[in-house]
Order: sequence, then structure tokens, then C-alpha cells
Amino acid sequence: MKLQALWRSPSAWPAGAALVLTLAVWLSYTAVYRAALQEAGQRGQAQMQLQARELLGSVEKFEHLPYLVGADQALAQVLSAPQDPLRLNAANRYLQFAQHRTGVAAIYLMDTTGHTLAASNWSTPGSFVGRNYRFRPYFQQAMEGGAGRFYGVGVTTGEPGFFIAAPLLQNNRIEGVVAVKVDLTPLEERWREAGLPLALADEAGVMFLSAQRDWRYRSLYPLAEPARAKLRETRQYGGTLTEALSPQGLDAAQAPTALQVVDGGHYLVQARPLEHFGWQLLLFADPGPARRQGALAAGLVGLSLAVVLLALAFAWQYRRRMSERRAMARERARAIEALERRIAERTAELTAANDAAVQTGKLALLGQMAAGISHELSQPLAALHTLADNAAEFLKRQDPDNASSNLQLIGGLCTRMGNIVGELKAFARKEPARLEPVRLAEVVASTLMLMEPLRHASQTRIETETLDAGLAVLGDGIRLEQVLVNLLRNGIDAMEGQAERRIDIRVSATGETVTLSVRDHGPGLSDAARAHLFEPFFTTKPSGKGLGLGLSLSQAIVREMGGQISAHNAGPGARFDVTMRRTATPPDATAPSEHPQLNRTPFYACTAD
Ligand code: ADP
Repeated sequence: MKLQALWRSPSAWPAGAALVLTLAVWLSYTAVYRAALQEAGQRGQAQMQLQARELLGSVEKFEHLPYLVGADQALAQVLSAPQDPLRLNAANRYLQFAQHRTGVAAIYLMDTTGHTLAASNWSTPGSFVGRNYRFRPYFQQAMEGGAGRFYGVGVTTGEPGFFIAAPLLQNNRIEGVVAVKVDLTPLEERWREAGLPLALADEAGVMFLSAQRDWRYRSLYPLAEPARAKLRETRQYGGTLTEALSPQGLDAAQAPTALQVVDGGHYLVQARPLEHFGWQLLLFADPGPARRQGALAAGLVGLSLAVVLLALAFAWQYRRRMSERRAMARERARAIEALERRIAERTAELTAANDAAVQTGKLALLGQMAAGISHELSQPLAALHTLADNAAEFLKRQDPDNASSNLQLIGGLCTRMGNIVGELKAFARKEPARLEPVRLAEVVASTLMLMEPLRHASQTRIETETLDAGLAVLGDGIRLEQVLVNLLRNGIDAMEGQAERRIDIRVSATGETVTLSVRDHGPGLSDAARAHLFEPFFTTKPSGKGLGLGLSLSQAIVREMGGQISAHNAGPGARFDVTMRRTATPPDATAPSEHPQLNRTPFYACTAD
């Protein structure tokens, strides 16, 4: 439950992302580092195998050299007469020759007391001749009849070497010992050059060869006193034995990926026993490259994951913004719907008000209209008469086609006459016009709102100058709107078929009057139109579109308010000026009005939200 709440709260996400990132970085580092270390271990094993073989080869090839050298007569003759300078000389030269040919460090002959009689280096300052090596294990082993092997630092030369010794037998008796010293330091040099971190330790755990130069003669673990005593006795490494590499002691049998502390540093330690000598070949691999590989992998994983997490964060943000935008769009659609509903309501109200306006305005025109009406009606009546007669005749002649087309024409004429009568019916009742101060800006705004669907459908631009909110006229707001609607509709009709449709609404005021001008950019008024414009039933529009009553009713309405309406040609287009009586600004429009139609918040106020 708690976890779910955490998941839902976006502020917890950065912390979660950081946790995931840290975990991924740590896991990838560990995995790659371990794998690299393991690989380094395997590589080390292979290298050690190769080096062990080379080491054994370079030592074993001299295993039999002391026997071979000892078989020469020159040595046997020295043993039988050690004081004879001629024999000694011959033996020395022979050993020098053998040493030179085999490439070993030295070959020498000792008597049974360990005293050196002859040596390959007899002529050098570090000559072994006259020295006694009785204390050396290899001498003792050879005196026991076997082959002696020993690695140590030369007591005479101070140089390390591998000593191989063999007894010199005469009549099955040991008469002396021949020893060969092999220099292994070139091997160490080769390790160093090849960058192989190898070392060679003896059975006591003392390293006598090491690619790391200052580790030579250091032990893998602290030596116990008996071992130390033995080293002193055999003078194996002279006096150079120094402290252990690791105070706890190294464990070469550790897991291959476990690091050990060696001489203050961390190494991957591997060991390989060289059983023939009781030695150990050791490899101290540096874990640095494995660490670097791990760090590189962790860096890459961290970076990629960070990119992915960032992308996710952006995607999430984007989705959120989109849903916000959708919510806003829904909100806007709701507002538009509400506005449209109000427009429809207002239109219905105005239509009702219009009926009243038509009624009152028309009465004044009734006399003027009588002539027009009788003309309008008598013509179709005469036509009806003729058409009816003809229809009867066609029926008599059995011509139903012509009879039915005549009847259709009769139907059309009836519709037209019905329309005229319908318009006139509105005149029957009279209701006096209500005159009160009306804000012109509000009238214009309402009219534009009413005209909006037609304006939009006809793609007309209506330019209105900013109107002084305090400008008011004496009149009936709703009827004035009707006049304006009529003028705008006529303008739009006149520009039908034009590429550009534009109507300008302007207002000019004097102290007494206010004139509202509606100017279109259509073809303007023809002479005939100018002469009959305000007469009822004058129209140039196709039948069904106009009855020719709009302007005559508008004139009646404006006159009833004490104003006047006039028509002009204005360059291209027609201009209609409606002049009204100016009056003082009425109280706030939002205050309740007595007029039943205006007793509400003006609908144009809703455009502000
Ligand atoms: P109707 O609605 O039948 O057109 P009106 O009284 O509104 O009746 O207009 C009468 C005639 O006056 C129209 O048929 C048209 O010929 C002409 N008229 C009115 N307004 C304009 C105008 N802005 N431009 C050109 N002609 C117009």
C-alpha cells in the first residue's frame, strides 16, 4: 500500500531513478570487473605454464654436465696429485674450456673435504680455487652419492646461481665433487622486459628471482626461527634476507578472483609448483586493468540508462502536457457550445421582438403599401384566372400534362400571395414603440453576434471602429438591432460572388444626433434601386430570397424612433446612414431594465469569459 502511494507520487521518481541507476552501475562494475579478473587469472596460468617449461629446460639441460665433466681424466689426475701444478693447470684449462662451451656461470672441482682444487674461473679475481664449500647442501648431497641441487647466492662472487653437483667416482669410491653453477638471472631479466610479473620462490618460501627487483630474497610469509637458522647456516642468500612480503602470509591457493595484499599493494596472486626442485613459480597480476574495464562498463551502462530514464521522463512530461491540452480543448469546446446556445436563445428572442417591431412600424406604411399590395395581388389573381381557365380547357382536351403544369403554376402563385398576406398579417396588431436610452456600442455588439453565422458562412470581413461606450441614442434596442441586421444582410447579399467581401461600420456624432453608417464594397445602388429602395415590394433578388420589405420596414422603424435612414453610393459599394437622436448615457447596462426583452444580462457580456 505504501509502495503504491510512493509510485504514484512523481516527487519520488527522481529518487527511484537514482536508486536504479546506482544499482545498475554497481552491478555492471562488479560483473565486468570479476570477469576481467578471471580472464587475467586464466591468462596468468597460461603464462606460468610457458615460463615453467622454459625454466625447467634451462636448468635441466645442465643436469648431467657435472658427470660429463667429471669423466675427464684431467680431473681424476688432479685428485690423485692435488699439489702438481702441471696437472692443476691442465684441469683449470679444461674446466675453463667446458664452461666457455656450455655457457654456464662456473664449473669447479672439490676434494672430499669441500676444498676447491680447480675452477673454470681460476684466472679471475673471484676465483673459487682454494675456497671451501663443505657447508653447501649440494656438496653434501653429492658426497652422499647422489646429485646435488641448490639455489643460492655465491659466497665468493655474491652472485646468485643454481648449483648442480655430482660425485667424482674412482673405483666406486667418491674422490671428489664436480659442481656447475648456472646463472638464472637472465630469465628474471626476460620477465621484466616482457612485463611478466613473475617470481620464483624456494621450498622455504623465499623468493630468489623476481621481476619486481626489490622483492628478491623476501619471503612469502614470516619465516620461523628454524628456517632462518638453516638459511644462516647454508649462507644460501648471503646476509641479504629481508622481511616478509605479507605479514599474514600469502595464500596462493586462494580463489582466483580474490586479491591479496602484497607489500602494501593489491594483487591477484597465483602459484604453480615446480615439483622437480620444490620451487614455486608465482604470478602477481595487477587488478588495475580489470578495475578500469569495470569502471568503463559501469560508465557506459550508467550513461545509457541515464539517457533512457531521461527519455522516459520527457515522454511522461509530454503525455501529461498533451492530456492537459486535451482537457483545455474540451473546456473550450464546452464554452463555445454554451455561447452558441445563448446565441440561439437570443435569436429566438429577437425574432419574437422583430414581430412586434414589424407590427408597429408597418402600420404607418399601410396606406403607402395599399397600392403596392393591390398591384401585387391583382396581377397574380388575373394570372390565376387565366391559368384556371386554361387548365379546365386542357382537361377537356384530355391533356393532363399541360393541365397539371398549369395547376403547379397556380400553386406557386398561391404560395407567393400567401407570403405577402403573411407579411401583412403582422400589421394587424399595433404596439407602440418603446423609446429609451440605448447604448449604441451594445446594439452593434449584439448585432454582430447575431450576424456571426451568416458572416462566417459568406466569408465577409466586418470592420467596426471602436465605439464610445458612453454613446447612447433614444430608441428601442431590439428594433434597432433588426434594422442593422437588415442593412448587413443586404450588404452581404450585394457582394455575393465577389472575391473580397468587406463591410465597414462607422459612427459619427454631433451634440444632437448620432449617425451609424453601414458601408459595403459591392456594386453599389443602381438608378432604379435608388428611386424605389424604400418602397415596399421593391426587390431585385430572385423570388423566394427577398420580398422587398426589409428597407421599407427599416425606414418605418427608424422614423418611429424619430430618426431617419438614407442610402448613398460610396465609390464602390453602397452606404446606408441611420441617424438617431442622441441622449445621455443610460445607467449601467447590467442594472435590471423595465423592458421585458432586456431584463437580463446582455448576452454580449458572455464573450468576455
Ligand atoms: P429585399 O430583402 O427583398 O432585398 P430590401 O428592401 O432589403 O428588400 O431591398 C430592396 C432592394 O434594394 C434590394 O432588392 C436591392 O436591389 C437593393 N439594395 C438594398 N441594399 C442594397 C445594397 N447594399 N447594395 C445594392 N443594392 C441594395
